[in-house]
Amino acid sequence: MKILFNTLENNNITGVDLKLPFRTLTNCIFKLLTIIADMPEASTYCLTYKSYNCKYPCFRCLTPLDKFNCINSVGNYEVRTNQTMKNLYENNRSQEFLLIFLYNIFWDYSDNIYKACVTDRMHQLDLELFKRMITCLKIFNKGIFRLSNVTAAEYRDMIKIMLFVFYKLENNNNDLSNVYAKFTKMYIMSRSNSFTTSDLELFKEISQQWALEFLRLFFQYSVSNLQLPKLHVWLTYTEEVIKEFGSLNGYSTDTYETLHKFYVKNPYNRTNKRNALKQISIMSDFMLDFNNEAIEKKISILRKCWKHFAHEEKLLFKSATIYKSAKLKKLNYNLIIRADEDFYGKSYYSDTEITMTIEQSGNYLTEDGMYYGKCILLLEIMFIRDDKIEKIEMGIFQWYDYAANVSKVLSNQNEIEDERHVLGCPYLKLLNSYDLVSLENINRIVHIIPDFSRGWYYDAGR
Ligand SMILES: [Zn+2]
Repeated sequence: MKILFNTLENNNITGVDLKLPFRTLTNCIFKLLTIIADMPEASTYCLTYKSYNCKYPCFRCLTPLDKFNCINSVGNYEVRTNQTMKNLYENNRSQEFLLIFLYNIFWDYSDNIYKACVTDRMHQLDLELFKRMITCLKIFNKGIFRLSNVTAAEYRDMIKIMLFVFYKLENNNNDLSNVYAKFTKMYIMSRSNSFTTSDLELFKEISQQWALEFLRLFFQYSVSNLQLPKLHVWLTYTEEVIKEFGSLNGYSTDTYETLHKFYVKNPYNRTNKRNALKQISIMSDFMLDFNNEAIEKKISILRKCWKHFAHEEKLLFKSATIYKSAKLKKLNYNLIIRADEDFYGKSYYSDTEITMTIEQSGNYLTEDGMYYGKCILLLEIMFIRDDKIEKIEMGIFQWYDYAANVSKVLSNQNEIEDERHVLGCPYLKLLNSYDLVSLENINRIVHIIPDFSRGWYYDAGR
């Protein structure tokens, strides 16, 4: 470790020269700012005990384990610092405070190693707290052993649908959908790119509201009484971490972990463990299956749509190039829209919200002047208008409409029920009608979640 960190900031050293393509920087001093890690890894760097059953399992502070499920105790206990922990070590009191009896080299190389370790959102929310909300319920009657192979991306897909699953299951008792709704609200907010002071306060409030609900509902199902280290870390430090290092999106291990799971862990599990590397390398050379029938169908839809589109404007078709994805520049962010039969092994057709003028639209729904459509083909079309060649980026969209016709019905007493919406989101069905729409008309990408029982769709939007 000492050799490894020789280049890091240290009193004895004047820095190293850093060769860049066009110039050389002299006397560069490296500083250890942050370590992105899961909790056990963070404990390794901090040399604290990894066991979640010890007295002080948190690598950042001395909150006792039995206070981990107590929201009021947040921030009430002493935090670990380089100096205090070093003193404990020198006075032979490491054991009492669950420190491994070793000199921690990071005391010399970091201002505060306990603060520098940051656990990322994926490990805390996707893979731990959200997983808890599913496993506690035992809704999988054949057990949940397969959940150990679920990636964070797949958990994120589950986050999108769970709210609606429970809404369907519960009759007049919306406890579960409420706790999932609060979780989703917190999760969406945690993905913001920037936070103002008031955003942070709101975020803290939402997190606490969710935690209260979570503890109230799931307490009885948990063997550990929900004394979860990650719950403690999430509630206690997230705000501080955002203040110190900025939005949570900046330090995430999602990509590396997903790639590792997809290309290494899962293929390894499928081998017979003998000469595994060779077996894995064969597995990743799989052939892509190109579905001709689907393309044929789309081309015929394109013909019909173009006929309709060109008829109004008297355009002559020249050629078209098909794309799998397109980037649209919106005010201050990029929108990626996809129509891809094979996006990492799965089909991916973006659901979008579209703004159109009344003359352009057919007889589909409008949600405050917005239309919903699934993009099934992306293309750039060259055509001739008044003897001049022009081109336009377009998509073929399959339209959604409200699944229910009644906008508002009067149910018992004075309560007004809106059949067109579920939990504030439009309740949709996919129509068998298509149109060519210019990509400029796309407002945003939405999540439309299938309701398998009746073949209808929700828009979980935003
Ligand atoms: Zn702590």
